[in-house]
Amino acid sequence: MVNVTEIFGSKVFNASVMKERLPEDIYDLMQRAIKNNKRLDIDIANVVANSMKDWAIENGATHYTHWFQPMTGVTAEKHDSFISPSGDSKVIMEFSGKELVQGESDASSFPSGGLRATFEARGYTAWDPTSYAFIKDNTLCIPTAFCSYGGEALDQKTPLLRSMEAIDRQAMRILKLFGHENVTGVKTTVGPEQEYFLVEKDTYYKRPDLVFAGRTLFGAKPPKGQELDDHYYGSIKPRVMSFMHDLDDELWKLGILAKTEHNEAAPAQHELAPIYTTTNIAADHNQLTMEMMQKVAQRHDLICLLHEKPFKGVNGSGKHNNWSITTSTGKNLLDPGETPHDNAQFLLFLCAVIKAVDEYQDLLRASVASPGNDHRLGAHEAPPAVVSIFLGEELSEILEAIEEDKEYGAREKTQIKIGVHVIPKFPKDTTDRNRTSPFAFTGNKFEFRMLGSASSISDVNVVINTAVAESLRQFADELENANDFKTALHDLIQNTIKKHKRIIFNGNGYDDKWLQEAEKRGLLNLPTTPDALPRIIEKKNVELFETHRVYSEVELKSRLAVLLDNYRKILRIEALTMIEMSRKDIMPAVSKFIGNISDSLNSKRNAVKSVPCKYEESVIEKAATLLDTMLDRTDALDTLLVEVRTIKDTQLKANFYRDKVIPVMDELRAAADELEVICDRNIWPYPDYSEMLFGVK
Ligand code: ADP
Ligand code: MG
Repeated sequence: MVNVTEIFGSKVFNASVMKERLPEDIYDLMQRAIKNNKRLDIDIANVVANSMKDWAIENGATHYTHWFQPMTGVTAEKHDSFISPSGDSKVIMEFSGKELVQGESDASSFPSGGLRATFEARGYTAWDPTSYAFIKDNTLCIPTAFCSYGGEALDQKTPLLRSMEAIDRQAMRILKLFGHENVTGVKTTVGPEQEYFLVEKDTYYKRPDLVFAGRTLFGAKPPKGQELDDHYYGSIKPRVMSFMHDLDDELWKLGILAKTEHNEAAPAQHELAPIYTTTNIAADHNQLTMEMMQKVAQRHDLICLLHEKPFKGVNGSGKHNNWSITTSTGKNLLDPGETPHDNAQFLLFLCAVIKAVDEYQDLLRASVASPGNDHRLGAHEAPPAVVSIFLGEELSEILEAIEEDKEYGAREKTQIKIGVHVIPKFPKDTTDRNRTSPFAFTGNKFEFRMLGSASSISDVNVVINTAVAESLRQFADELENANDFKTALHDLIQNTIKKHKRIIFNGNGYDDKWLQEAEKRGLLNLPTTPDALPRIIEKKNVELFETHRVYSEVELKSRLAVLLDNYRKILRIEALTMIEMSRKDIMPAVSKFIGNISDSLNSKRNAVKSVPCKYEESVIEKAATLLDTMLDRTDALDTLLVEVRTIKDTQLKANFYRDKVIPVMDELRAAADELEVICDRNIWPYPDYSEMLFGVK
């Protein structure tokens, strides 16, 4: 049995390690730097670096790396050893404050979306002292932000930290108005629930589509899918259980608060949820969690699939981003509270979120856009591509009463005066029943459910933080200049509800009728990634990010270029993989199958002339026709991939993939999947869906 309290954080250079190892004055300065997000002086950094190195070496590390998250969404690291020649053909282990605080990195092989052409190729990494250093694979990892020499963000952490500063700045103005003199800052908190699939390692390596694309590009539905709902929260198989235990141990050592592990809706699908923490740390931890899931799975001869839609016809994987704002004194600003004063403040923050989500629907949609996620959104398993907010009936009724100055209450009717009356409590379970909403209020936090399982949580939180900061900025401007605070507050809340209530929807988000209703309300429906991405550089969105110094226009354009390019690259890999699977494996197998059946047909006829041969005749006919279709569609795909090269514009390229390439991929798949059902099992070149989904013993 592992001693959880003992191993928890054992690979992390956290506050208690620092307290134990650093001189008291240095420790205090370090804590202050962490709290106020300030840079350390080089003398202090030297002391911290040295102590960090000693600790890391004692714990088995030989190397260090600046660990960062380039715009590709995965993490990057370049390892340097601690060794330094000591002059006598020997080495000593060294690590300076300079090496801790800032690293240089050749940015040229990371996507920069054009920033590289304008600026220098080299980038630098800067330590984020608020996220603790940790040891992974004998390497001391220092969480860093990654920028170009011109200061442009080349990663996902820099804008996230900037957005956290933005919401801190604006929320503090509001909190001053409510008289919170002792609050020194606010932070946003996130708890991301992570879904994933586990398949047998042997099975995985037999499927080029899983290896190259992370999802099946061919594959007929098995006789049994998820219709019995017997997997969801079902008992966990021993192999999977031992994987989960092992994963928990690894995550705990890294100080990650892995809390719940359970089976999900689809067969072979599982979920891990951590306890929430400060957003930038949650983002780092989520990256580490995904990495560890894959590593630990390998150890158990399993493969962890993080793709949003590994299996057609079976639920895909998402990520739920539970989000809230907390003050330095530990108060959750999305908790309705007990007193009229608290209630009023809660309603204001609630309205800030409602306004933000309504005004920046497009940015929220774009922040979850990826080719993988396009398969999920709107496919009756995940929220539609239309953004809306679920508040639950009770809270919606309260807002309605405020909006119309009307009486509220089941028994005792009262008119709610903000800051005077206590708003009634709403039981938590009534807020969490509707799982179809993209953006749901769940008692004291919002749960954004549109994220795909594979992507970093940074982008969505950049958008949420900045958009809410903008609402708060406008609110503060208005309230700071008000003659009578209470009246102004009431009017502000009332007007915000009036103006933005169209974004509130408590019904079934999977219902097609909702899409019509949403259109009537003027809400945006951006079904695919190429629809959503260009919204990033809409004028209002550039203004938002520039106002709060989160992104410059140049940075936004570079991001758009990287994301569009990523879309194109992923689809190209998928199409090429399909062509190869079709030509090298599936078509030859089908041809062989037709040959075998033809042989048996002939020998049957040779034996008895007028014998019935319905099976052979019909299957040869059907298989041969489908084989022709496969050949035709494979050739068509090939031609399209040549044609797309003549298109220069990245947006038009992405559109071409969506409008021309994807439909042909779908047709090719349909023909192959039909063939899989009629062909001899022993001739089919790949493990089938049953084996992949039910194969883990
Ligand atoms: P479920 O969604 O499965 O019902 P919970 O609502 O209990 O589960 O929590 C889901 C996630 O929300 C967990 O990761 C939890 O830590 C996180 N969470 C709870 N409170 C907050 C908060 N104030 N801020 C951010 N995340 C939170
Ligand atoms: Mg949830």
